[in-house]
Amino acid sequence: MKGKIAIDRELCKGCKYCVLSCPKGVITMDCEFNASGYFPAAVHDGEKCTGCALCAQMCPEIAITVWRDEDSKDEPLASPSRS
Ligand code: SF4
Ligand code: SF4
Repeated sequence: MKGKIAIDRELCKGCKYCVLSCPKGVITMDCEFNASGYFPAAVHDGEKCTGCALCAQMCPEIAITVWRDEDSKDEPLASPSRS
């Protein structure tokens, strides 16, 4: 299965939960601060993403959006939602 993620670097607090949870090593930490002064997570090896969404489930800041191949292009599997 093929997947794709997007990380909102300005929501990220740099906890690395997503890096530790990804079984494919897709995510790494950026070496440039975001506006809040954190080193944010970044997509490192996006070709390996399966769309499992573990990273998005682990993210306490709801900063990761995930798509899978079979999903509608307009409907991400997991997306930031703040109510
Ligand atoms: S969706 Fe799964 S494979 Fe893709 S980056 Fe997140 S944890 Fe890794
Ligand atoms: S889990 Fe979320 S807040 Fe933590 S490093 Fe990853 S994207 Fe940033």
